Amino acid sequence: MVHIVGAGPGDPELITVKGQRLLKEADVVIYAGSLVNEEILKICKPEAEIYNSAQMMLEEILHVITLAEKEGKTTVRLHTGDPSLYGATQEQMDAMQARGIEFDVTPGVSSFLAAAAALKQEYTLPGITQTVMITRRGGRTPVPDTESLKKLAQHQTTLCIFLSVSLLPEIKQDLMSAGFKSSTPVAVVYKASWPGEEKIIRGRLDTIVQQVKDANIDRTAMIVIGHCLNSENRQKSKLYSPTFSHMFRQARF
Ligand code: SAH
Repeated sequence: MVHIVGAGPGDPELITVKGQRLLKEADVVIYAGSLVNEEILKICKPEAEIYNSAQMMLEEILHVITLAEKEGKTTVRLHTGDPSLYGATQEQMDAMQARGIEFDVTPGVSSFLAAAAALKQEYTLPGITQTVMITRRGGRTPVPDTESLKKLAQHQTTLCIFLSVSLLPEIKQDLMSAGFKSSTPVAVVYKASWPGEEKIIRGRLDTIVQQVKDANIDRTAMIVIGHCLNSENRQKSKLYSPTFSHMFRQARF
């Protein structure tokens, strides 16, 4: 049996209770070494075989899994954040399915959520935006034309941009040409939730490139852009308003 598990964004306490149990019980662990905090592996059994997938190709990963299956072992495939986002998990799941290997998936706390926590920020604000877009800027891995940053940004939603901090100058250009003002607030969170390593940079579209350069941040960062970061003109929600009734509470005025 193979368990694909989201390790969370970095803080070893941000793996789910279920993910932690599966990791504790695993005979074989293949972890995404480029981003998973190795602290999390301390709970593995001393005899567990541990592989870092950063040095492996798809076929090698599948080979380790297939061998473990033949020996009746349990494997945890540990991905950073949540496995459904930029984890190259689909090709692994498809291959397991094709080989008749049974697997399940345990979700994790994605880094875009850890970034919101670090920023103490709600992404969906009444009257400002009710939508969050998760995307990346096309670079070595292309992004379909229909969802280029220029096009997405026209909606003026909250944008959480993965894998792109080295492309911040291009992102700035895209957003400006999509109509975002140079004063639009931007936050960059480096290693959100990693104990002792997290850095938060807050700025505007016209200052952030230099700020991030000065902070020497060139990877493992979440870029958050949008009017939700603007602390002016905020409205209160209906949910806790005294004049609003819903299934669990009557209006009081
Ligand atoms: N599946 C992961 C994303 C993997 S792609 C998730 O759900 O978070 C790797 C990218 O995720 C990085 O380039 C960076 O943009 C982002 N990332 C991962 N961990 C992060 C962290 N702790 N803080 C900020 N960004 C992070």
